[in-house]
Amino acid sequence: MSEPLLFEISEKDRTGFTLPKLDVPEKPLTEMLPSDACRSDKPDLPEISEPTVIRHFVHLSNFNHHVDKGFYPLGSCTMKYNPKINDKLSSLPGFTEIHPFENEEDTNGAIQIMGELSDYLKIISGLDGITLQPSAGSQGELTGIKIMRAYHEDNGDPRKTILIPDSAHGTNPANVTMSGYDLIQIKSNEAGLIDIDDLKIKLDENVAGFMVTNPNTLGLFEKDIVKIAELVHDVGALLYMDGANLNALLGIVRPGDVGFDIVHFNLHKTFSTPHGGGGPGSGPVGVTSKLIEYLPTPQVIKNKNTFTLSYNKSKSMGRIHEFYGNFNVMVKAYIYIRMLGSEGLKRVSKNAIINANYLMKNLEKYYFLPHKQYAMHEFVLSGNWQKEKGVKTLDIAKHLLDFGIHAPTVYFPLIVSEALMIEPTETESKQELDRFIDAMIKIAQETEENPEIVKSAPTKTPVSRLNEGIAARKLDVKFQEND
Ligand SMILES: *Cc1c(COP(=O)(O)O)cnc(C)c1O
Repeated sequence: MSEPLLFEISEKDRTGFTLPKLDVPEKPLTEMLPSDACRSDKPDLPEISEPTVIRHFVHLSNFNHHVDKGFYPLGSCTMKYNPKINDKLSSLPGFTEIHPFENEEDTNGAIQIMGELSDYLKIISGLDGITLQPSAGSQGELTGIKIMRAYHEDNGDPRKTILIPDSAHGTNPANVTMSGYDLIQIKSNEAGLIDIDDLKIKLDENVAGFMVTNPNTLGLFEKDIVKIAELVHDVGALLYMDGANLNALLGIVRPGDVGFDIVHFNLHKTFSTPHGGGGPGSGPVGVTSKLIEYLPTPQVIKNKNTFTLSYNKSKSMGRIHEFYGNFNVMVKAYIYIRMLGSEGLKRVSKNAIINANYLMKNLEKYYFLPHKQYAMHEFVLSGNWQKEKGVKTLDIAKHLLDFGIHAPTVYFPLIVSEALMIEPTETESKQELDRFIDAMIKIAQETEENPEIVKSAPTKTPVSRLNEGIAARKLDVKFQEND
């Protein structure tokens, strides 16, 4: 399988479209533009008919796995189907053709959407203030930590350290370090939850905050969270929730109610913008009332029936992004929330949870399940049993591609060896989940009977195993005529 470049299938004088004959006198370009701005020969562009162009891109889109093509159970990433109507509506010219420099009066509808979205996120999270400015989950974390710092400095006690469980997503420690705080790790216990005794030893008045992911990256709900919040607040620290994946909590648990002070959300996971591929995201941050004054500016302020922007920044941490953040992603989240309503959102979470547990129960006989409690929206298997036969988790991941299924997240969280982190999401049907179960069982059987099949996978993809280091660092994207 290969696809030629458009340059290679170009045929001289073939056109993709025709224009009506010019009905005004033609002028040479040099009469309209400075001559040094005019090129002397035509650009070397491919000449191709419209159907050929369409087929070219459709072929290319089939080379890669994507969520519109098949199951994509990538844990911690929430690769769920995102309704196309949200793309369509958020692409309306009223949304895409406004400019951040336009007057507030002329863009009041857009400000209203940001204001109402902020209100919905407050209701969903049980928090009091929101900024929509951060453009990703990781930037939300940085914002949250800067809010922590602004709060503690304002209280005359800047503090030095931030605590993080050893199961945390890599962006947590990265942001702590980038913000100049010292990082202290908290152990997980046998059950995969925060080890409260370890937390007690490490909590003191130097601690600015504790960053927790709940459900944690093993897909387990930190059931002692209220107690943890008490301990954290007792030393004057703040409790932060990495809420990148809210798929298990919608309409069921509000982070603000269980003691979180700061939460970031990933609109591009839970709220209808596809995640991955480096596309634009949005990582709003919610805070309790005592932290509102430290949020980035501008803030959307609700008056009686209108929303305005406030640039009042005496204690604000400043800005984290130019203008307001990625507006188009906010529009999609707004539509998604409005379309589902509170009952619909709750159904999202219930289905995400039942789908994850359905997979877990069906696979635990074939793959080692280190933590046996019911899971939330995702769960983590270990490939340790297969490894004894010489098949690594990476091999299992690669072989799934032969079944038309994207691999789960592998080798994360770091506290599970040979980890396979599986998140089916609520948008998959039982039939699709059963297909995944069948594929995983088949791979487990092949591992027993003929491990070479798994070790040499994938065989049904356009390319087999790439050198990932070279693929990421030595990109070769330039067309050379004689290549
Ligand atoms: C995805 C994710 C993040 C980071 O979000 P980005 O938008 O990719 O920066 C942080 N924490 C967790 C748990 C995540 O799953």
